[in-house]
Amino acid sequence: MDRKEEILRLIEEGYRTAKELARHFNVSLMTIYRDLKDLEEEGLIVRRHGNIELKKDQEIREDTCAVCGKDVDLRLAFIYILKGGKKVHACCAHCGLILVKGLDRDRIEVALTRDFITCNPINAFGAFYVVGGSASPCCSPSAVAFADRETAEKFAKGFGGDVVSFDDAVLKMEDLMKGGQRVDITI
Ligand SMILES: [Zn+2]
Ligand SMILES: [Zn+2]
Repeated sequence: MDRKEEILRLIEEGYRTAKELARHFNVSLMTIYRDLKDLEEEGLIVRRHGNIELKKDQEIREDTCAVCGKDVDLRLAFIYILKGGKKVHACCAHCGLILVKGLDRDRIEVALTRDFITCNPINAFGAFYVVGGSASPCCSPSAVAFADRETAEKFAKGFGGDVVSFDDAVLKMEDLMKGGQRVDITI
């Protein structure tokens, strides 16, 4: 069994501190801290007053963006489903594109978002994005997802921005965010 899974099981059994866990596995505290940090980032545990606890279901706010904390509008939502079933939500493609950099790509099972026009669920990795246009449905600089390039291009004609693939959209977003100021691209 993976050590992290084992840790979750032990916490369920009543283990409460990193020290207890380190002793159990006969590994350094540093190693346990690293595991705990991962588990915390995955939203599976919380640390409270020095005690480790499993996160209760109701504490997992699935309706909040992992990047900016905004409520997630289902129409724009961007969801990463990690191996093991844990979901990470972003409010829109803007935050979704930023979020992926903080996730281990190998651990992502699927990434889902919706086509901006049809609202159909689409594979986010295979989608087309209009990045940096003047239409900003949620966060700026805006990124809007589409199932096909044609629709994305039509949208970009009206609102500006570049039509790019997922990976290029991540890079482009990084570029636009440099200096932390809002960048508008007009055509
Ligand atoms: Zn967000
Ligand atoms: Zn957003």
